[in-house]
Amino acid sequence: MQIGILALQGAFAEHGAILDQLGVDHFEIRNREHLHLPFDGLIIPGGESTVIGKLLTELQMMEPIKQEIEHGLPVFGTCAGLLLLSKKIEGENALGFGTMDILAKRNAYGRQLGSFFTKDEFKGIGKIPMTFIRAPYIVQTSDNVEVLAVSDSKIVAARQDNQLVTAFHPELTSDTRIHNFFVQMIETS
Ligand code: GLN
Repeated sequence: MQIGILALQGAFAEHGAILDQLGVDHFEIRNREHLHLPFDGLIIPGGESTVIGKLLTELQMMEPIKQEIEHGLPVFGTCAGLLLLSKKIEGENALGFGTMDILAKRNAYGRQLGSFFTKDEFKGIGKIPMTFIRAPYIVQTSDNVEVLAVSDSKIVAARQDNQLVTAFHPELTSDTRIHNFFVQMIETS
């Protein structure tokens, strides 16, 4: 198995470190040519969604990746990655691929609570550590979206077929279970 990690901006290296712990091969996707290398799953990291969105467009990577996701490529978006996959963003135009039937709110916890840590239940896994950094949350989901985690009454993780998103950063903890969940998604796809 080979996982591509979108490495245009943000916390991409940390995802690689977790995949190393799981013994899963990975490489960084930095330009359009890298999309021609074979990979079975894609991670879209946290960072600044507007910047990553702009770079994806400039580097002509938005459409090819969007098509792959629509054709079933397993994809895991954390934080800014969640925003790039969202079909709708509250009060703004969609920023990225817009392939997942969710409405997200950006910087949703306000300035005071910009960053925080908590532990909450993740469906089928149990209590996991959750690190939030100027995070979004999911305001609304369609019927085809499965809610996987709710924290403080806000939806913070969800799945729609081949697409997995978390508002928090599992790559910033030593807990490998969410990445393992994604690896299993790839194995069963
Ligand atoms: N606030 C960022 C955005 O709107 C997301 C933050 C993150 O990925 N940690 O894109």
